[in-house]
Amino acid sequence: MPRTSKSEEGPVQCEICQAVIQRRQDFPRHMRIHSEKRDEITFKCPWPGCSYESLQRSNVDTHHRIHTQEKPKTCPDCDFATSDPGSLTRHRKRFHGYQPKAKQA
Ligand SMILES: [Zn+2]
Ligand SMILES: [Zn+2]
Ligand SMILES: [Zn+2]
Repeated sequence: MPRTSKSEEGPVQCEICQAVIQRRQDFPRHMRIHSEKRDEITFKCPWPGCSYESLQRSNVDTHHRIHTQEKPKTCPDCDFATSDPGSLTRHRKRFHGYQPKAKQA
């Protein structure tokens, strides 16, 4: 529930779109755009099957990265993590004396 003030005048900020409505009595009308055009102003995650949505595009972009980002490879011997398998191998060789299985010649 939004907190209401006794004041009839003065700007009020919309929690949804951050718009400042100069006159409080215009606020209910402003809120109607959110119920009517909710689909138009809501950004949805484009990932198939994902139902994430946000009114702020940056939130969706941040969220979307969890789908696109490669899972980091983590070193089994320490906290080292990288998205590049090659650098993980180099790390393991260098710090842990890891010997990759040599291909039989
Ligand atoms: Zn609004
Ligand atoms: Zn998503
Ligand atoms: Zn390590």
